[in-house]
Amino acid sequence: MRILMITMSMLCLIGCSSINSSHAAPQASHANFAIENVADGVYVHHGKHLDIDTGYQGDICNISFVVGSKGVAVIDTGGSLKVGTQLRAAIRKVTPLPVLYVINTHVHPDHVYGNAAFLTSNSHEAEPVFVGHEKLANTMELRREQYAKLNAKLLQEDAVGSELVKPTLIVKNILELDLGDRKLTLTAHPVAHTNTDVSLIDVKSSTLFTGDLLFIERTPVVEADIKGLIAEIEKLKVSPATQVVPGHGPVTKDWIVALSDAQRYLNLLLTDVRASIKKNEGMEKAMDTAAASEKDKWILFDIANRRNVNTIYPALEWE
Ligand SMILES: [Zn+2]
Repeated sequence: MRILMITMSMLCLIGCSSINSSHAAPQASHANFAIENVADGVYVHHGKHLDIDTGYQGDICNISFVVGSKGVAVIDTGGSLKVGTQLRAAIRKVTPLPVLYVINTHVHPDHVYGNAAFLTSNSHEAEPVFVGHEKLANTMELRREQYAKLNAKLLQEDAVGSELVKPTLIVKNILELDLGDRKLTLTAHPVAHTNTDVSLIDVKSSTLFTGDLLFIERTPVVEADIKGLIAEIEKLKVSPATQVVPGHGPVTKDWIVALSDAQRYLNLLLTDVRASIKKNEGMEKAMDTAAASEKDKWILFDIANRRNVNTIYPALEWE
């Protein structure tokens, strides 16, 4: 595997004029945008395992691109215009071919706000087709204000220009995208991690991109439906993939194990929260005790597990 370090000196001439000594961390993260070449024509940038509330800099998820003979498909764009712009420059170091598609695996802000970098107004290149779940555009609209406030607070100046760009090509069930010598097959999932989950496979390299249906190393997150998420993870196990790019964490060929690890945590969380509800223990206690035996197996466990309990407890009370 090859790691390419893309130096962003050109970009910094345009984009870093406001950076000064009081912003050492953003400058450091701006200097390099590492991409991993995981198969012929398949590249992945790994964001850092940072919590959204602690040190979030818009670059925490996996961002991928696939290069075909006709052009490029991008899979998630990061959490800000800045990250999207770094991604675009990284693509240009690899190929001069046009970016044909920008695919969002779901609505979460760390995955979508880099879309803006691919608008003609920001890139001076032909605009790609933005692709997402049939519910993505509406869900983006519903969250627009909430996410804008969150970005302003967490990203500060990097929030400027980080606009929501909605999909114009919709995935209802299955959608095939043609990159020339290779095709991507996209699947829209029922409600799971969110109500907007899309996974896809690059058939040529047998690489499956799960979005946040799969976390590796980092604690899995449930926003929408824990039972749905467990079920969708089960369905992914029959994929013909030889390697998997998760939404967060390393690329792996041991992906059945990774899917099973995530299911083990989620099943335990589900069982423990149900038991807690049955015993009338209250949500606060469940936040401290549910799935506690998984604590040492995951990064950012305490914060993410508490949030998961907070999300699923009220829903499971109505079972
Ligand atoms: Zn997510």
